[in-house]
Amino acid sequence: MIRAGERRVFRVGIALAAVGVMVLAACGSQGSDKGSSSTTSASPSSTTSTTTTTTSTSTSAPSGGVVPGACTKAACPDLDESSGNLMRGVVTTENANGTNVTQFLTDALDDLDESWGQWFSQVQWGDASPGRALIAPGTTFMTRCTDSETGEAEPVPSDEKNAYFCSADAAPNGAGVTRQGSVVLPVQTFVNFWHGQIVGVPAPLGAGEFAAATVVAHEYGHNVVYRIAQQGNIPRSGYPQGDNSELIADCFAGNWAATALRQRLLRPDDLRQAVSLIEVVGDPEPGQGHGTSAERGLAIQRGFGLPGRPGQPIDCLTTYWPEVFGA
Ligand SMILES: [Zn+2]
Repeated sequence: MIRAGERRVFRVGIALAAVGVMVLAACGSQGSDKGSSSTTSASPSSTTSTTTTTTSTSTSAPSGGVVPGACTKAACPDLDESSGNLMRGVVTTENANGTNVTQFLTDALDDLDESWGQWFSQVQWGDASPGRALIAPGTTFMTRCTDSETGEAEPVPSDEKNAYFCSADAAPNGAGVTRQGSVVLPVQTFVNFWHGQIVGVPAPLGAGEFAAATVVAHEYGHNVVYRIAQQGNIPRSGYPQGDNSELIADCFAGNWAATALRQRLLRPDDLRQAVSLIEVVGDPEPGQGHGTSAERGLAIQRGFGLPGRPGQPIDCLTTYWPEVFGA
């Protein structure tokens, strides 16, 4: 999801597909993404630094779509497979703790950086990597994005029941370079995935690596939209609108899941996690910010694709961002 003030929060979303299916937690958008709030960041815990780097959002670009580069409806690169250093069953219910889950989340982000990084390189859209704010158990992160419920930017605890992307938060990326625009992942909340709680909601069928990685892939999807918009100088009004702002992130998560499937990283247990996710998320009705469970499931499935024809970024872009990629 995206928190207001640029915080895209996540509320599990999900779904799945074909043989493999899957789900995803998705954050729901909390309000509109507008500028950052003015809170200062104290960033006690973990990584997070408050240094701000470049990338200012430009204000002049036609919202009709002038994204430079090599991805258009007619031709666009496929998302490459990553290292596959994920989903190996390393983290289990027995050993899920702050240390192991932090490593898992780091691996997931490395995997996403690799896949999306190659894609961004091919389309010549610069660096895809987001800042990483992993909130260690027992610590808090001072975000610059506001909470949708309180309307304030408050310290975010490690057991915050959501993950999100915040364009106003700056943090080091995987290479230690501070990046404006960060994924904020409360580690304790992710530890709880292995103990039957998906972003605080009971998951009767279980959760674990697949559900956790999908949620991270969803947040990364918001980052992808943000980086593309930065490259194209697309103003907020030109971003995916309404539920599409969440559905495109679900779809991108499906793209990632498809690469995991091709690497044979998905197992039967992952299907159960997918079902859990689908049941856990989704709005009661369309137009409430995230999309219904059915809509989210379809978005992930669209991103996942079909046997023999994996979904690709362009499928997500043309469907959920027609203002820029539909022509
Ligand atoms: Zn989201």
